This record gives sequence, structure tokens and C-alpha cells, in this order.
Amino acid sequence: MSPSSAFARADVVLVGGGLANGLIALRLRAMRPDLKVLLLERDRRIGGERSWRWFETDLAPGLAAWLRPLVTHRWSGWEAGPAGAERYFETPCFALTGERLSQALATALGANLWLGVEVTEIAPHQVTLADGRRIAAAAVIDGRGPRNTRSLALRWRVSLAQAVTLDAAHGLSCPVLVDAVEAGDPACPAFTVLPLGPRRLRIEHARYAATPVIDPAPFRAAIGRYARARGWTIEQAASEDADALPIALGGDIDAYWREARPEVAKVGPRAAIFHPGTGHALPDAARLADQIAALPRITSASVRAVAETYSKTAWRRRRFHRLLNRLLFVACPPEARPQVAARFHRLPPSLIHRFHAARLTLWDKARILAAPSPIPLAEAFEQIPDRAAPPRTER
Ligand SMILES: Cc1cc2nc3c(=O)[nH]c(=O)nc-3n(C[C@H](O)[C@H](O)[C@H](O)COP(=O)(O)OP(=O)(O)OC[C@H]3O[C@@H](n4cnc5c(N)ncnc54)[C@H](O)[C@@H]3O)c2cc1C
Repeated sequence: MSPSSAFARADVVLVGGGLANGLIALRLRAMRPDLKVLLLERDRRIGGERSWRWFETDLAPGLAAWLRPLVTHRWSGWEAGPAGAERYFETPCFALTGERLSQALATALGANLWLGVEVTEIAPHQVTLADGRRIAAAAVIDGRGPRNTRSLALRWRVSLAQAVTLDAAHGLSCPVLVDAVEAGDPACPAFTVLPLGPRRLRIEHARYAATPVIDPAPFRAAIGRYARARGWTIEQAASEDADALPIALGGDIDAYWREARPEVAKVGPRAAIFHPGTGHALPDAARLADQIAALPRITSASVRAVAETYSKTAWRRRRFHRLLNRLLFVACPPEARPQVAARFHRLPPSLIHRFHAARLTLWDKARILAAPSPIPLAEAFEQIPDRAAPPRTER
């Protein structure tokens, strides 16, 4: 099948070459080599400058083993906390770079990886490209990233990451997550630093916002200030990645699935599948890719059913994460948010890892709510139900 055919046919067409569809493509090629899988990506490259990080505790051993060949960096622990008082966590942490995902997809799909191809229409068994070409398939899977919706109340974790080379060794041996460096800022500014080589770092600056709009200049300036405060001199800022990750405050997941061509199979944030507290997506993407590849018959209906069940089950199980977001972004006095967010990393390490794995126990939840806080809890519970449309009181 060539990108120039006027009409093409495949068993599975994946629309959007992000993490969600990228992992589905790799899992299908490994478990279902009989299927013709075509991946269509609008950009000229896959993955861009992104790096996906996850913890050992996020994934069951079987899935971790499957991802192992994709891992580009492994650290034996990570640090987190307020600047200068970071705490060490002894849990291995991994990263996969966009470049590695791109190489793996090029090897697995060969000529069935179409780049620079924009899809304008998606139906359960056919897609139409911007130039009018059509492709038919038993399964069409929409992985085009988050979409606008009125059914979910979202905030955004707006992030810009720079891959930089320093003039001297940085001295870091593991990733560092730094909270609330500018006390009192309601956007809860944070930095994530990944050591990629003796002088190479990936520095990500994130801020919470009501909209996904990014103005890169203040982010670049904040990264520069942070590097100088650490005593690092940036010799070269090689590449940049900026985007907004959804953070869930509440909403109606059933209504979300009834919207926008409900008969089409969707995955990743397009299917409202993401960690509600961090916006991260890799563990869910790996689990769903595995479930899809294990289906006896891969059709739009069967993929849609498994993705919808995954999305709705995860949404219901992660109710408490959304409550925490509402407490932080609706009930908390804005200037007290950094203080509340920073306190999180003082909780027991096992609880923090269960938070990231979205597997909090009842005891964990009680422990989080029992911590002293400036949030008026009783009032907050009454004001901000989970199923409401975007909360009226949001500040
Ligand atoms: C700075 C930053 C750091 C992050 N770090 C982490 C992390 O450490 N760990 C983690 O788990 N998650 C992380 N995330 C979140 C994670 O990257 C996303 O949640 C995940 O990539 C979503 O995957 P996706 O495939 O569903 O969507 P996307 O990655 O958004 O991919 C969608 C793709 O679809 C393509 N597309 C869109 N429309 C069309 C069209 N009409 N035709 C063809 N193609 C189209 C887009 O070009 C894009 O490539 C991070 C995000 C950001 C911004």
C-alpha cells in the first residue's frame, strides 16, 4: 500500500501517531502480525521532542517487560519536593523518547507509516484524507489527542520542555520534580528535570491554567531562571516541546462518549483516558494497547467497546483524584495552592506511588484528607459535585 494510492484498504487504520496509537501499532505488530496496520500522522515526524516518564510501580510486570525494549533511560529513583528540599524516592523510573518511538514505529510499520497526512473525516470503517483519498478498514481508531467538550470539566497542565546541553556536568543522577518554586503563585509552577547525559538535561516547566493556550516566552524565561538558580549555564537549547495536558475536575463520562461520532473507536485523551491528576498517559496507553491486541476480532465495534469500558471504568475509579483537583482548583484559596500541592510530596512514598498509579486505597484517601489544609472541606464537598458541568465557582 503506498501513500499515493487513490483508494486503499487496511485491517486497522490508526488516525494520529501519538503515544496511544503508537503503542497500539507496536502491540498489534507484535501480537497480530497477520493484520495490515496503517498509521496516519499529520506531522512530518512522530513523537517530536516528547519524553514519556513512568514509574516501575505504574505497570504490571508483563506490560513492563513488553515496554523494556522501548526504554531509553532508566534511573533507580527520583526526587521531588520544594526547591532545595527535594526528597529521594527509591522507585525506579523510566523514560521513552519520541525519537525512540518514531524509530520503533518505522521498523514495525515500514511503508504503512504515513507521515504528513491529514485526516479530515473519520467513520467507523473509512477515513478521508485532506487531499480526498479514502481508506477503508475493519477498524478505524481515533487517537488525535484531547478534544473540546462541554461534558467534562477540565483544567490544563500547560507545559514547555527544553532539551539543553550545559557547559559543565550537571551532577544529577535521577529525575527531579520541583514544586511551587514561586510561593503564592496559583498556577502552582513546577519543574521536571530529566538527566539524559552527563551535560544533557530535559527541563520541563508546567503551570496549571483554565485554557490550553500556551505563550512559550514566559516558560522559556522560567526555565532560564531555574537553570541559573541551580548554577547551570545552558550552552545550547537544542529542541523544544510545548503542549497542554488535560486535568479532570469532574464531568459526565457517559455524555462524553455520546458526543462527537460516538460510533467511532477512540483511544488516549481522545477517549478521556489519562491520569486525572498529572495528565500523563503512558501506563493507560500501554494497558489499553494490550487489551486491544488481545481481542479475538479487531473491528471498530470491538475496539470501541473495549476503549469505552476502559475509559468509563477508569473514570469511575479515579473519582477521588478529581475530588482532589476540585479541592485544589475550586475550593482552595488560589494563593494557598502551591502550599497544598507542595505538601503532597511529604506523604509516605508508597502512597505517592499509588497516587501516580491511580490505585489509592481507602486508607490513603483518608490520610490525604486528614492532612491539615487551608481548604474548607465541608463547604467544598457541598459546592462541587463530580458530575456537574464545569463548576460555576471555579476561580
Ligand atoms: C511537555 C509534556 C510532557 C509530558 N510528559 C509525560 C510523561 O512524562 N509521561 C506520560 O505518561 N505522559 C506525558 N505527557 C502526556 C502525554 O504526552 C500525552 O497524554 C499523550 O501523548 C497523549 O497521547 P495521544 O496519542 O492520545 O495524543 P497526542 O500525543 O496528542 O497525539 C495525537 C497525534 O494525532 C495527530 N493528529 C491530530 N489530528 C490529526 C489529523 N486530523 N490527522 C492526522 N493526525 C492527526 C497529532 O499530530 C498528534 O501527533 C506529557 C505531555 C507534555 C505536553
